[in-house]
Amino acid sequence: MIIDGHSHLTLPVKEHIKIMDKAGVDKTVLFSTSFHPEMDKNAQEVKASMNYLNELLNGKKGNMTEIRKKSVQELVKAINLYPERYTGFGAVPPGLDLNTTGQYISDNIKKNHLAGMGEFTLGSGQIPLLENIFKLSHEFGNLPIWIHGFFPLELHDIKKISNFARKYPSIPVILGHLGGINWLETMDMAKEIPNLFLDTSAYCSTFVLGTVVNELPKKCIFGVDRPFGDLELSKEALLKVAKSKSIASAVLGENIAQILKI
Ligand SMILES: [Zn+2]
Repeated sequence: MIIDGHSHLTLPVKEHIKIMDKAGVDKTVLFSTSFHPEMDKNAQEVKASMNYLNELLNGKKGNMTEIRKKSVQELVKAINLYPERYTGFGAVPPGLDLNTTGQYISDNIKKNHLAGMGEFTLGSGQIPLLENIFKLSHEFGNLPIWIHGFFPLELHDIKKISNFARKYPSIPVILGHLGGINWLETMDMAKEIPNLFLDTSAYCSTFVLGTVVNELPKKCIFGVDRPFGDLELSKEALLKVAKSKSIASAVLGENIAQILKI
């Protein structure tokens, strides 16, 4: 089974299903989104969308908990339309107290049968805000946690994520984008920590992609990161750099299927 392990909900949903069919992709692990840059018509509109996202993440555009709840509702609607094709990860606000976070996870993640939590996109220095998320993931049966791993995160932030993974060895932790420019150090951390996995989307270069997937074929998870990545091109790149069919199959689906028990 070929699985895109990381893409955000894009509109229209049925267009995404068509693209999956064309690329021969069976399933997508779908993530909620608080904006839709794929609907923009030109660079100026994209710029406006990106500015909106920045303001949103900096808390200048309304209540993030409400925005995340809405994005989860949109996600669940899409999954219910195509339950065979989608498995979902839902956004959870970081930095809230333990009770509020627990209630949020119960109402938005567990009740909706979502498979994991994320994408957590934090600023540099903010990783400790995930403490309650890790505590509660464990209480809710080790829900996988997916964390954005390139800019604005720095190496010391990625080390903090790896410390959480060490502290909670039964929680699958997926670090996005191979750790960005810190891919070499990140590769070593993933090699050492059994429950730390790497998502391949938005890799720095095909050289980086090839080096990491061939070194850690059981720890890498194919991801596209739609709307920022192209499904067919991402799959082609993986097939081209993987040194064997078994490496390609592991990364293109087997690893995430095992984590999510698909
Ligand atoms: Zn990301």
